[in-house]
Amino acid sequence: MLPGVAAGRGGKHQRDGCGLDVARAIATELRNSIIDGSYRYCSRQHCGHIANRMLVERDEEEAVKIIGAHEAGKLDELIAHPRQLILSHDQSCNLTCPSCRTGYIIAKSEEQARLEAVMENTILPLLKHAQYVNVTGSGDPFGSKHFRRLLKRLDKDEYPQLKIDLHTNGQLFDERHGVNSACRILSVTCKSRSTRRMRTPIKSSDAAATSAVF
Ligand code: SF4
Repeated sequence: MLPGVAAGRGGKHQRDGCGLDVARAIATELRNSIIDGSYRYCSRQHCGHIANRMLVERDEEEAVKIIGAHEAGKLDELIAHPRQLILSHDQSCNLTCPSCRTGYIIAKSEEQARLEAVMENTILPLLKHAQYVNVTGSGDPFGSKHFRRLLKRLDKDEYPQLKIDLHTNGQLFDERHGVNSACRILSVTCKSRSTRRMRTPIKSSDAAATSAVF
């Protein structure tokens, strides 16, 4: 297990909604595993870059620059902020697909308060510098009060460079839940047998790609 994950699980940083130190420790350990070539936290089966042999060669210009900065302890200067964030910290969803869970998971009020703090203290500051954000890898962006509030905050004026990848079961996605910022990918996946009624999807002229899996 990653040391940062062990330190952060149920610890002070999680309770306070201030996970930057933990995130930094995890990022450092992940970077170490990539720079030393072991990729010990990566799945050879699930990572398309490894499986399809798409990794950057160590002698390519970009790799040389990154390895050099890492060895000099200056990687944070070269890559000060993550370009892409995959948000998977709230499992709330309006469905109970058997492949995913055995009952409804909706964050309760105490958890909501913690998620709000994480949003204000960690996520929104990071998104100021990011180019892509994926919402969500853990539940549904519109079945989660936290993610709905987050998406409403991402307006084009404050986050002009940010593109949103939305992964949703689509049931709650309509005009009322319009996304203010540019939506790059809209992926609608529906695995539940209870998902019979689909509302009219939002008309998003910004959506660069839409995929649907039923
Ligand atoms: S819609 Fe997605 S997140 Fe929700 S229960 Fe089904 S598989 Fe899980």
